[in-house]
Amino acid sequence: MTTARIIDFIKTRRPEGPCLVVDLDVVRDNFHAFRHALPNSAIYYAVKANPAPEILTLLAGMGSNFDCASVAEIQMALDAGATSDRISFGNTIKKERDVARAFALGIDLFAVDSHEEVEKVARAAPGARVFCRVLTDGEGAEWPLSRKFGCVPQMAVDVLVYAHQMGLESYGVSFHVGSQMMNLDAWDAALGDAKRVFASLAKQGIHLQMVNMGGGFPTKYLRDVPAAEEYGHAIDTALRKHFGNQIPKTIIEPGRGMVGNAGVIKAEVVLVSRKSDNDNHRWVFLDIGKFGGLAETMDEAIRYPIRTERDEDAMELCVLAGPTCDSADVLYEKNMYPLPVSLTIGDEVLIEGTGAYTTTYSAVAFNGFEPLKSYVI
Ligand SMILES: *Cc1c(COP(=O)(O)O)cnc(C)c1O
Repeated sequence: MTTARIIDFIKTRRPEGPCLVVDLDVVRDNFHAFRHALPNSAIYYAVKANPAPEILTLLAGMGSNFDCASVAEIQMALDAGATSDRISFGNTIKKERDVARAFALGIDLFAVDSHEEVEKVARAAPGARVFCRVLTDGEGAEWPLSRKFGCVPQMAVDVLVYAHQMGLESYGVSFHVGSQMMNLDAWDAALGDAKRVFASLAKQGIHLQMVNMGGGFPTKYLRDVPAAEEYGHAIDTALRKHFGNQIPKTIIEPGRGMVGNAGVIKAEVVLVSRKSDNDNHRWVFLDIGKFGGLAETMDEAIRYPIRTERDEDAMELCVLAGPTCDSADVLYEKNMYPLPVSLTIGDEVLIEGTGAYTTTYSAVAFNGFEPLKSYVI
C-alpha cells in the first residue's frame, strides 16, 4: 500500500539508491485488525519479518509479544521495551549455549520438535515451558515452509512426554500453516492435529495449555486476500470444532501479515534492452534484485505489485531482473511482468507490499551493492 505519507517522504527526501519506506500507521492498523479478528489470541510478532527498532517499539507499546528465532532477536525485542515474559524463543533449531543465554535473559518459553532439542532445553533452561511444533503440509501457501520444522503429531506426543520427564513444563503445541496462506481451511487441519496431541497427553496425565497457531496470514500483493476477520472466523470455528468448550490459550505469530503491506521499495530502472533485433520482449533491469532484498521472488513465488509514473501508457510483458552479475538475479521471466512500453532508463518504480522479508534478506555488498536502506516513518 503506497500511502500518501510514503509518497510524500520519497518526493521530499529524494533518498538516493533503492530503499524501503515503512509507514508505521499501517503497522498500527494491522495490529488492531489482528487483535479485533482474534480477540482471544495473544499476538507474538515474528521479528524476522522486519526487525526495524521503530516497528518493534511501536508493537511493544501496543502490547504485542514477540516470536524470536535467535538471541540477537530476543535482545532487539527487549531493547524495544518488551519484558522477557512477552518473548518466545520459537526456533526449533537452537545452540544449547543460546538457550542458556536466553534463559539468563529471563526467557521461559521455547519451541522444540525433537528429543534432542528437549535435552538441550532441559539442561540449559531447567523447568522452562516448551511447546512442540507439528508438521503441516503447507498446501495453499505461496511461500511454504516445507518439512524443515516440526515433527509428525504422534512424535510430538513422545517429545512432550519426554520433556515432562526431563523436568520441563510441557506447555503446548505449535504449527505454522505456511507463509502467505490463501486457504482458510489450513488452520482447521492443523488444529485437528493439535487436539489429538492434547488428547493423547491428557490420557497420560499431562495437561497442555496452549496452541501456538503460528503465522501465515497473507498480505495483499497482486491478488486480493481474505481479510483478517475471515481468518479470525475460520480459526474460531476450527477451535470450537476441535476443542469444544475446552478451548486452550492461543497464540498467533503474524510476520508478513503485520508488516508486508506497510512497506514500499523505491527503485530505479537501470537499463531497458533486448537480446536481438527481433526480440519480442524487453529486459528491464532495476537497481534492486534478489540479492538486494527481493529474495522471495525465488521461483517467482511472491509477485509484487509494481507502480511507475507511466502506468497510463500501454503495457507490454517484459523480463524483470536485478543489477548484480549473477544469472540467478532475475525476478520474473517464466511468468513475465507487464510494464509500460514507454518505461525508460532512470525512471523510478515503486515495489509495493515489501515491508516483510526484504531488508533482512538483502546481502551485504554482493557485487559492491549496499544492503537495502530502510526508513520507518
Ligand atoms: C516466520 C515465522 C512466523 C511468521 O510467518 P508469516 O507467514 O510471515 O506470518 C511465525 N512463526 C514462526 C515460528 C516463524 O518461523
